[in-house]
Amino acid sequence: MFSSSSPRCFRLDPEVSENHGYNRTVNSATETYKPKQSIKNGKSGPGPSIKYNSRELNPGRYVLSNTRVIIGVLQLYMGLVYTIGHEDFDYQVTGGDRYVGAVSAGDNGVFDERVYSSTNHSQIYNSTSGSSHVRGASVDLRIKWYSGIYIPLDIVRPVIRDYTDFMLYPGALPENYPNDNHYHLKLRNE
Ligand SMILES: [Zn+2]
Repeated sequence: MFSSSSPRCFRLDPEVSENHGYNRTVNSATETYKPKQSIKNGKSGPGPSIKYNSRELNPGRYVLSNTRVIIGVLQLYMGLVYTIGHEDFDYQVTGGDRYVGAVSAGDNGVFDERVYSSTNHSQIYNSTSGSSHVRGASVDLRIKWYSGIYIPLDIVRPVIRDYTDFMLYPGALPENYPNDNHYHLKLRNE
């Protein structure tokens, strides 16, 4: 259960690891990150496990190469639990890093302008080469009541503002994604 005496003082000690050839542990929110530009072969899935207590927040193992994004996923979860008062809601990563495809193998720097998932290499339609997902600066999250209704902005927006380094875009809110009503979050300062 969530048990923190102060919402501002929760300890960031996430169990974060990646199991494809190397291991990484998140130790500090100040760890620097070098933005990833368009590359033909982005880091491939599976991405990191992101656990709070025993709850897995990234069950789809979406690739999230930016440590700040991973920490934000945890901060937002903890802030929501503190604000709502319980953990009985659906919260999981549904989208992460993407990359722009190359015209052909070995064709460095020549991109096809199609955007693909770094997790499973499927093409992502309605995403552009300028997407913050391509820069490793965004994450999509399902934040819903178990009834299937997304937890409204009135609750989520202040938590994003007060507990995370994420921001919302007016045109990229849950209501703008009728298929799944996900929250698209982007780092404030990439
Ligand atoms: Zn998104």
